[in-house]
Amino acid sequence: MERREFLRCTAAGVGAALLGNGLSRALAAESPPERRNERPSMKYARLGRTNLMVSQICHGSLHTNKERLPLLARLYEGGVNLIDSSEIYGGGRSEEAIGEFLSQDNRRKSAFVITKMDIRAQLKAGAGVYQTAMARAAASLKRLRTDYVDILILHGCSTLIDWVTNEEWLRAAEDLKKQGKVRFIGLSEHAKPAEVLKLAAASGRYDVAMVAFSLIKGEWPGLGRTDIQAMDEALKIAKEKDIGIIVMKAALRAEEILAKVSEPKLRKAGFSTYQLCYRYVLGVPGVHAVVCGMSNMTHVEENLAVPGIDLAAREVDHLRRVAAASRVCGFCGTCLGACPNRVAVQDILRFHGYFTHGHRAHARAEYAALEPDRQAGACRGCGRCEGKCPAGVPIRLRLGEAHDALA
Ligand code: SF4
Ligand code: SF4
Repeated sequence: MERREFLRCTAAGVGAALLGNGLSRALAAESPPERRNERPSMKYARLGRTNLMVSQICHGSLHTNKERLPLLARLYEGGVNLIDSSEIYGGGRSEEAIGEFLSQDNRRKSAFVITKMDIRAQLKAGAGVYQTAMARAAASLKRLRTDYVDILILHGCSTLIDWVTNEEWLRAAEDLKKQGKVRFIGLSEHAKPAEVLKLAAASGRYDVAMVAFSLIKGEWPGLGRTDIQAMDEALKIAKEKDIGIIVMKAALRAEEILAKVSEPKLRKAGFSTYQLCYRYVLGVPGVHAVVCGMSNMTHVEENLAVPGIDLAAREVDHLRRVAAASRVCGFCGTCLGACPNRVAVQDILRFHGYFTHGHRAHARAEYAALEPDRQAGACRGCGRCEGKCPAGVPIRLRLGEAHDALA
């Protein structure tokens, strides 16, 4: 990317590092939104203060490899301009495949690229954060065959919420901005969207947040910090700070949750459960885009159709009621404090979700990486967690199923 073009495109991004966030927001508000690869059949939203007009559908790249590039090509042809990846997906193969895609037909200039950095080990150790972040960013750029990414995301902030404001990480990210290698800074979290989002907004250092949020998190009564009220409040704060919101995990365990959808119009239209879950989160005020997974061309076509689905308020209410009755884990984390044995209920059930969606090797690897005393085998069956679970999940039963599948 040429220097002049970079400066033109990043008034808000560089401004946040050099000029302060108030001024950078003012610059973003005055600049025309930046548009890439727009097609009439897709809908676009301004991603907060980044001023990027992103497609509501974001290409999720957890399982992307070179064989799956035709799926990405079809999405791109349908107007998708937002591509999400991570250095850890496929051990770097996802970034390599996307790099190959972007290097053809001048596509780099027609897409917004996100990658995520997983430096949890360094953050946990409190050492080597800055150096590792700079080296990892260079490696990601090489795999992606580009000299900049539009958004660099700190992966998995909910593991320890203090990481959101870790100065070494933020210094590295802001130095990468100044060097023109990163345009905007973001974070991702898997379990405490409201809590993480509030902290990110208060810090004033983040342009984008990728949050795990879904139909089930939006409905269960008594869900505590991740209920719809908490999320609503967090989204309002994010809006005040003009932070872009991308939702992920919107359809995890969708089949189980929505197996009982009976709304006549929804059935007649033949929407898939994934489409309904994606469309639901896109209808939540303050959400700009949703990360969609896909493993075949049918999924791709379904995802492309999502922005055009018209959901009435009555239908949204029906979806919420069905979700409330599903007794599926929404990964709220409420049960964690109840367990005297530190069993990682939330993560174990999430890994089992990956497994049941066919990502068996990935799920087993994640489970194997848990310390033995946090695996399901450490459960003593006391039932205290079930007493706390707002969704009424039969946790002991589910842990047993997960262990049988994953161990
Ligand atoms: S039933 Fe198992 S996971 Fe639940 S609180 Fe007791 S030991 Fe922990
Ligand atoms: S089992 Fe219940 S309390 Fe625990 S993370 Fe899942 S929904 Fe939350």
